[in-house]
Amino acid sequence: MKKITIAKGDGIGPEIMDATIKILEAAKARIEWEEIQVGERVYLSGNSSGIDKNAWESIRRNKVFLKAPITTPQGGGYKSLNVTMRKSLGLYANVRPCNSFHPFVKTKHPHMDVVIIRENEEDLYAGIEHQQTDEVVQCLKLITRPGCEKIVRYAFEYAKLYGRKRVSCFVKDNIMKHTDGLFHQVFKEIAQEYPELESDAWIIDIGAARLADTPEMFDVVVLPNLYGDVVSDITAQISGSVGLAGSSNIGESCAMFEAIHGSAPDIAGQNVANPSGLLRGAVMMLNHIGQQDIAEKIINAWACTIEDGIHTADIYKEGISKQKVGTDAFADAVIERLGKRPHHIKSETFSKDVKLNLPAYKRKPKSVKVLKGVDVFVDWDGTKVDELANQLKNLESDIKLSMITNRGVKVWPEGFEETFCTDHWRCRFEVENGHPAKKESIPQALSKALEIGIDVIKTENLYEFDGVRGYSLGQGQ
Ligand code: NAD
Repeated sequence: MKKITIAKGDGIGPEIMDATIKILEAAKARIEWEEIQVGERVYLSGNSSGIDKNAWESIRRNKVFLKAPITTPQGGGYKSLNVTMRKSLGLYANVRPCNSFHPFVKTKHPHMDVVIIRENEEDLYAGIEHQQTDEVVQCLKLITRPGCEKIVRYAFEYAKLYGRKRVSCFVKDNIMKHTDGLFHQVFKEIAQEYPELESDAWIIDIGAARLADTPEMFDVVVLPNLYGDVVSDITAQISGSVGLAGSSNIGESCAMFEAIHGSAPDIAGQNVANPSGLLRGAVMMLNHIGQQDIAEKIINAWACTIEDGIHTADIYKEGISKQKVGTDAFADAVIERLGKRPHHIKSETFSKDVKLNLPAYKRKPKSVKVLKGVDVFVDWDGTKVDELANQLKNLESDIKLSMITNRGVKVWPEGFEETFCTDHWRCRFEVENGHPAKKESIPQALSKALEIGIDVIKTENLYEFDGVRGYSLGQGQ
């Protein structure tokens, strides 16, 4: 018996969880349930994280969590429980298989079978945001080498284990050369370790467009967090319904399984919700905990139910479906079919051997890091940039003012008067002779700025790593 933590969540959560548990129990899953409360009620009781200490303890003790969707109350102050959960438990890989069930569920893409593997902890979801001037706010996009290596390796290992042919990565490294550039670089490095798998990299905009139009071109797709969030919902939706897809969030010690959809408050309490997303999440969980026999029994019975045209309202179509059922009756129909295999939908077999080879991250030898200057960000509401440049000349030492940008575009020297400017200026000071900059030049420049009334809001040091520039040029530089 394996003890599992469950949360019934909000909205349709309790109905679809009850249906899922009923099916798991009928299939004789070797599981004991430990229920915790998370979500709306916990938020509204004054806990801004939506989860309390006892609930955390249960998840950390059992290490496997089956979670129904929850409602995050509207308004400020409530932190997203999903993001907190993924990051606190180190659930770095979000796996979302999206396949169609043609001709039983209506879809424009009858042959799609794509697995989205989304990085789950980094990127703009680091949640580091600041207002810096009246007019400008920023959000830091953090991409790390360990984060990239873990998720990319997970994608290749997943592809190998499940007999997939190709891994694609989506990035925007024509614009974000350092952050998305690192993700792409790590993808290329790790792809070489899997010569038996095809690999390709796409710029996210055209990649996403092709995926939405011709999903048959893709097999496993690995993406940084934000792109993965958007693309996985699109991919699930075009497969037929967001109500059908399950998702796993995998970490080194814990794992969380869920449906990809939300708590659907518009249909809550009406016994009409489709429990398939959560059920398919539970099947991924059974596979994860080594109960492949039960996982197989349930997923094949579910496929028979779909094939037999017994459909909940979200996927019911006159002429395709045979019987419109509610949540409970759908669960009963799956239970009746336990032990059967589908005739048309691909029958699933799960191997007992589901170990992915995921070695612990090994830090590379430290590079030679050389200071080359500093970007000084200034709050200034003037318009004549030459005036700002003249004031900034007072901050020079071995590092000289080389460029001023506004929203990333070079406006000094030789800017265009057409360029629109805000009150947020990035002023770059660099060594001219190729020597390392003196570290003390930076605090000296800041003291001088304070003395002459330049409002510095932050600085970013400019480094070379092993002789390679570690910062972007200004647009137009
Ligand atoms: P939603 O996914 O809850 O609903 C979108 C639409 O799809 C609705 O019309 C809904 O009725 C329908 N739908 C969703 N699941 C269905 C199912 N199983 N069967 C039939 N129809 C289904 O998205 P939303 O309305 O944007 O969000 C509602 C709440 O859910 C919000 O509070 C949001 O924060 C939360 N949410 C939670 C999670 C999670 O817990 N993992 C994920 C997304 C959204």
